[in-house]
Amino acid sequence: MGSFFNVLIHRIPLKQSIVIPASHCASCKRRIPFYENIPIVSYIILRGKCSKCGAKIHWHHLLVEIITPILFVALFFRYGLTDFLFYKYSILLGFLIPIFFIDAFQQIIPHVLSIPLIVVGFSLALIPGNDIGVLNALLTSLFVFCFLLLLAWGYQKLRGYEGLGGGDIWLLTGITAFFGITGIPYIFLLSALLGIIYFLIFVRDSNKPFAFGTFIAVAAVVWAIVGEQTILDLIPYL
Ligand SMILES: [Zn+2]
Repeated sequence: MGSFFNVLIHRIPLKQSIVIPASHCASCKRRIPFYENIPIVSYIILRGKCSKCGAKIHWHHLLVEIITPILFVALFFRYGLTDFLFYKYSILLGFLIPIFFIDAFQQIIPHVLSIPLIVVGFSLALIPGNDIGVLNALLTSLFVFCFLLLLAWGYQKLRGYEGLGGGDIWLLTGITAFFGITGIPYIFLLSALLGIIYFLIFVRDSNKPFAFGTFIAVAAVVWAIVGEQTILDLIPYL
């Protein structure tokens, strides 16, 4: 999965096919044989370089291959294989890991990821065993979408430039389809909090745009793994 996410992260912003051609060096185009394409191991053995031309392979390849299994295993420990939510949030991870890295590097959230996220979210809400019903998913998403559109429009009117990217609006709408009214307020708060902390440490310039979608993705993943139940379980100890 991590290797596949790397393909998505590299090829979606370039508008390339994600199926063909097979894995190849972006620099010399050499096809990467299977024994040089083993997650984590190959990157370390090749020391992050193409074995033919020596071009550097970006470190995010290794990072994605490490965090992907960690996050799936975390979901497994949280829900187990019998809980529908394990599968639901695994699908969500499949969208959010590529979105995180594409937004972090390119500052875009591709519609080919965010629009299907919304559709998949609604579809999963139709399945019995889901924690939120389809009405919850639909109405909350619609509300969030309209609210953010109004917010973005108002900000643009007041300040004369874009405050909230269109990609962020689609992404948050899709995430709302997964979490509904019960989870989305926490994800909003957490993503804003993470964004503010990042802004204060690294950006500190209100004219400089930064990839807010990355924080939305992190907040949603944290909430999927930690979730409301964990917070409720912790309360007696606080
Ligand atoms: Zn090469």
